[in-house]
Amino acid sequence: MISIQSLSHHYNNGPILKFPDWEILDEEQWLLLGASGSGKSTLLNIISGLLKPENGQVKLNETDVYSLSFKEMDRFRGQNIGIIFQKPHLIKSLNVFDNVALASSMADLKINKSRVMDLLSSLGLADKTKNYPEELSQGQLQRVSIARALVNNPALLIADEPTSSLDDENAEKVIKILTQQASDNHASLIIATHDKRVKDKLNKEYLL
Ligand code: ADP
Ligand code: MG
Repeated sequence: MISIQSLSHHYNNGPILKFPDWEILDEEQWLLLGASGSGKSTLLNIISGLLKPENGQVKLNETDVYSLSFKEMDRFRGQNIGIIFQKPHLIKSLNVFDNVALASSMADLKINKSRVMDLLSSLGLADKTKNYPEELSQGQLQRVSIARALVNNPALLIADEPTSSLDDENAEKVIKILTQQASDNHASLIIATHDKRVKDKLNKEYLL
């Protein structure tokens, strides 16, 4: 479903980051492991079409991601890839429902109200749909960002360091939620982490 080949990249004055070839099949769940600074976020940005690599190829379902124009790429990403960033950045002036629904509008898709409600319920947020981000706890905000990442039924769900600011109990919960949601939604999953507590929680590992 996704493959990277001969990928490498370097930032101005930085070292050359080389990424081993990788193939991710439908519904597989992977940990992307590596020390801080090893290039995990860089690789996720390359895979999701946000950062053009100096060398190499990224293919998602036979589409060469970097052959698309910017506009096509935005649309493609919105429809195929759900990303959960380390810090959930939600829009303050929109309630929870609208924050999630916005991801559909941004990807040129129709808002599916029952899909939004079902997802929020499955994440324990049924009674928060009309609340605003500042009225939610960090854990709830993270679950809203998970709903937002999943609303368009992406083929690939990506989470960058989702447990780094959580205590043990919540770290464990979030990994369970991500794996469960990916499997319920038939999405492949990549969780990038340097958090030793997460090691061995998924059955496949890619090491940087
Ligand atoms: P990780 O997510 O594994 O911590 P990153 O992909 O963020 O690693 O960073 C890999 C390397 O690239 C680090 O040395 C980092 O300092 C550098 N780097 C990351 N982003 C940029 C950027 N926008 N400009 C310059 N250097 C960067
Ligand atoms: Mg990172």
